[in-house]
Amino acid sequence: MKPATAAQSSSHSLVAILILVSLLVLGGTGGVVFYALSGLASRTNQIDNELTGQAARAALRAMEQRVRDINSEFSRSDNLSAPHRGVSLFERRVADLCAGARFGVNFDLFLLVSDQMRNLVGCIDGKRVRSPPNELMGRALAPIIRDVAATYKRNTQRSGFMLTKVGIAAVSVGPAWWSIAEFGNGVPNLLVIGKRLDDSMVKRMGRDFSITGLKLATDTKAVNAAAAIREPDGRIIGGLAWSPRQPGDIALGQFLPTVYANFMFLTVAFAGMVAAVWISFRAVQDSNRQSAHAAVHDALTGLANRAALVSTLESLAGKGQEEAAVIYIDLDGFKEINDFYGHEMGDRLLKGFAAGLAMLVGSKGLVARVGGDEFVILVIGNRVERTALSLASSAISLSSEPLRVDAHDLKVAASVGVAIAKPQDLAGEELLRRADIAMYDAKRKGGCAIAVYSGAIDAELKRRLQMADDIRAGLKAGEFWIACQPIVRAGDLKPVAMEVLARWTRADGTTVDPRDFISVAEEHGIIDELGKFVLEEACTAAKRNRTLRFNVNISALQMRSLAFLDLVDNAIIQNGLSTDQLQIEMTESRLLLDGSILMSVVEGLKTRGIRLILDDFGTGYASIAYLRQFQFDAIKLDKTICAEVGKSVNSLTMAQGMVLVAKAAGLEVVAEGIETKEQANLLKLAGCTFFQGYLFGPPQAAPQAGQIYPQRLPTG
Ligand code: C2E
Ligand code: CA
Ligand code: CA
Repeated sequence: MKPATAAQSSSHSLVAILILVSLLVLGGTGGVVFYALSGLASRTNQIDNELTGQAARAALRAMEQRVRDINSEFSRSDNLSAPHRGVSLFERRVADLCAGARFGVNFDLFLLVSDQMRNLVGCIDGKRVRSPPNELMGRALAPIIRDVAATYKRNTQRSGFMLTKVGIAAVSVGPAWWSIAEFGNGVPNLLVIGKRLDDSMVKRMGRDFSITGLKLATDTKAVNAAAAIREPDGRIIGGLAWSPRQPGDIALGQFLPTVYANFMFLTVAFAGMVAAVWISFRAVQDSNRQSAHAAVHDALTGLANRAALVSTLESLAGKGQEEAAVIYIDLDGFKEINDFYGHEMGDRLLKGFAAGLAMLVGSKGLVARVGGDEFVILVIGNRVERTALSLASSAISLSSEPLRVDAHDLKVAASVGVAIAKPQDLAGEELLRRADIAMYDAKRKGGCAIAVYSGAIDAELKRRLQMADDIRAGLKAGEFWIACQPIVRAGDLKPVAMEVLARWTRADGTTVDPRDFISVAEEHGIIDELGKFVLEEACTAAKRNRTLRFNVNISALQMRSLAFLDLVDNAIIQNGLSTDQLQIEMTESRLLLDGSILMSVVEGLKTRGIRLILDDFGTGYASIAYLRQFQFDAIKLDKTICAEVGKSVNSLTMAQGMVLVAKAAGLEVVAEGIETKEQANLLKLAGCTFFQGYLFGPPQAAPQAGQIYPQRLPTG
């Protein structure tokens, strides 16, 4: 019986799914954002690197261009054609070139090479060199020399980077027109001008082209193709390298904190969302749990309710060989307390009893409240009868303990029915019904009793149910009537009163024993209607016989509410009776447990001047205290005692004792069921003041309108 667990696990899986989705969304978003940003950054880096590469290439081109410009500057002969102070143009040129190479600002080496690759004049860093050009300038020079020599007439110039003896250098080759005169073969020699790409040069390039960390890389394998330095034939001889600025990384670094902050915010938002969903789910679940609890629990007592009991019973079907015992407990006298003291008090009584019952049963079984004042204990196990009977009697003891609520001691009793069966043999509902029937049987026995279900009880219940229907129908069809039996004064045998007795003659002419139909009427809530009929008939008869008192039997159940007083008032007023013409006979009853309700009704009757007679005295437990408490005016010695009087001395002594008790309380004594003169005589001697019995007249139909009862009765 744990309906909450399924919902609980579904809430857990929902939350798990939510967390998973959140993580996926967060992770996905985060991943995409980081991927995009780092992609952007590296692309930016790449673009910047490409731009730097372009700048580096431009720097190299600029360097190459400069050596070309210088070469063309020095190769011309026009403006300096005339000899100056005995120094030939050739010599001046060579001296200037040597000085330029020494300065090293625009170039640091020059060679004058013949078309046969001879070193005519050479100077590196201002120092003359005489090695062959190939040796000085590396293998790239020869093809260029050849090329320029072949095309010198067009004033061709060639340039490029070469790996020279003194390192990588930008080199240009052009025809040195001023050398023609010097060597006289009519062909210009070739002027080679070079600028070494040394560290200071690279530094200057870096400065001019804003390339940070620019340096020369000589490891040809690791050189970046974008900034590679190639000889004219394409061979890589070195390259430029720089420290990349990585602007993407810088931007990313600046941007990331914002991204992190946003991401944190998103995470918090998601966590908040998951928490909110979880909290609201929990709330829904709690309310579900509460309604699930309410669905199987009784709101007032917190015990299981009828639905829970029935479903438990049903769930037992087909489970094992164990027995189930249903103990059905009905509180006698609860309704009266509820009506008299109000519902609040009734509720407190129910709660108190329920708590006691739950404690009593503990883990031995399930306790449920199945109706207003009806409780059920369900016990399952092997040979449960003993446990069931012991619980049943404990429940009775529990009920009989007065419950103190405010200033009142509330008293109830319990009638308990027990039914036992194996769940696979019997439907749960049927087991419950049987226990209920047994409970009714216990109630019929006078309450405070246990009855165990049997087929006979069932048959009896069915018979009585049928009779209850018949009573209702019979009341409508006028099958009921009253008989009156005289009560005579012991002294002169004059009738002073009539006992009114209910009679039922069915449509088929058969009569039903009043004891039978009265108890069925009591049991099935028809006693008020039947009692009202008898009372009204009695008052009608009393109206016609003003000299006689009329004794009406009133069931204790009729006295359970103050409404009874209204009924009496109406009957008396309608018939214009004086209240002392009506006497009420009541039997001791344990069904009316709460003295104060009965006391209120009794006081109401007494203040109206209606006399009260305790019926069937000698069969119950009535004590002098009881007689005084209810202010009886008379007792009726039970007919079983009167019948025995003539037969045994013992019973005469008993009768005498009872009469003495009554007289001591100041009460009159009526002896009923007198059939013989002997009985009458003996009872008169014992002190009885009135007689009733066949000897003085059987119960007879009440006289019709206009008739009256005979004043003197036959004494037989
Ligand atoms: P009860 O109040 O003790 O009524 C007296 C019973 O004794 C009556 O039985 C009556 O017929 C019977 N009786 C009278 N004289 C003799 C006699 O000499 N010998 C014998 N053996 N019996 C005699 P009845 O009419 O069968 O009523 C049975 C019981 O049913 C009554 O016992 C009373 O408790 C109950 N009852 C009858 N009418 C009513 C009624 O209107 N309301 C209520 N609440 N109970 C009623
Ligand atoms: Ca009576
Ligand atoms: Ca009686």
